Amino acid sequence: MSDDIQHALSVLKHLVGFATVSDQSNIDLIEFIMAYLDEYQIKYHVFPDSSGTKLGLIAQIGPDVEGGVVLSGHTDVVPVTGQSWSSDPWKLTERDDRYYGRGTCDMKGFLALMLAAVPQLVSASLTRPVQLAFSFDEEVGCLGTAPLLTALETHFPKASMVIVGEPTLMSVVTGHKGGLGLVTRLHGKAAHSSRPDLGASAISHAMPLIQWHSSRQQAACATATPNDFTPSYSTVQVGTIKGGVALNTVPDLCVLESDIRFLPNETAEDWVNEYRGLTRTVEDAMRTEYGDARVELVVTENVPAMHPETSGEAEGLARQITGDNSDNCVSYQTEAGHFQAAGYSTVVCGPGSIERAHKPDEFISSDQLRQGQAFLECLITALC
Ligand SMILES: [Zn+2]
Repeated sequence: MSDDIQHALSVLKHLVGFATVSDQSNIDLIEFIMAYLDEYQIKYHVFPDSSGTKLGLIAQIGPDVEGGVVLSGHTDVVPVTGQSWSSDPWKLTERDDRYYGRGTCDMKGFLALMLAAVPQLVSASLTRPVQLAFSFDEEVGCLGTAPLLTALETHFPKASMVIVGEPTLMSVVTGHKGGLGLVTRLHGKAAHSSRPDLGASAISHAMPLIQWHSSRQQAACATATPNDFTPSYSTVQVGTIKGGVALNTVPDLCVLESDIRFLPNETAEDWVNEYRGLTRTVEDAMRTEYGDARVELVVTENVPAMHPETSGEAEGLARQITGDNSDNCVSYQTEAGHFQAAGYSTVVCGPGSIERAHKPDEFISSDQLRQGQAFLECLITALC
């Protein structure tokens, strides 16, 4: 087993240098990966997003048979806008055995380890293929997972399991909450504030919708039962409110953005249907004041929860390699929920700490890179 992480670091240096914030193109980064894979004559498939500014990539190494293992990671990162960094976030910088840069832990560190493992994968006598999957738009609601799944299922033999290398400090995470992003737009009617009887206030009518979030949050908390999640209940909040143009004008528009993170035994549909029912009631109330009033509801994010599996193949393999037998469920979303919903046995296990993700001075430690590298080496051995 090698604890030399120089190769992984040289790849990571390139990956961090591409500023692949979710609203930017990632094509330079994918072209780098293509050139890298070409050196080893690896077969891969590239697919675009709907705008044509981003690419996803899937490579396969090993026999062209079903039952392989997908190693999955997203290529996009969150912005650095407004953050104070001690060094250039787009330049991998070492200080005290830590490697700083945007995406180092979430999750270009794992991507670098996947790519650095390619020479070993090529020379190993794999009995099952390893599929390396690189997605886009994970940080904006896991929007790139659906095209990735289509590409996987269209162009490659079906793998049996997926390891999503999000930062877990190499512990085996078997469950996470589902996530919903909702935008509610209330369209009322403007009037002078001295004549509210001539308008329909979008802000006033938003109140029962805002109140719903608070009361659902309190109810979820009050009825919580102990489980492996922190907190142990679903969470519901309005994150932003925008509305009104002046203090003396009845506001004709109010926009709410909501965030719901629900336990695996609940469904996105139930949450959306309950809330949608209330938006209809509010719309009816607004129309008694203004016939053309309306309330629009848009689901902007919908990430399925990841359920702990009963004797899951991915969990079994990851536990065998890491020796981690603790129960780990997390409250953030990953692409794992989508993979599991598509029929793959799935775990989340990767280097780095989620505590470092999305923050200024994001870093991954050399120890975590070593542990991640050792994990992939053991995985390769297990697949031979
Ligand atoms: Zn991530």
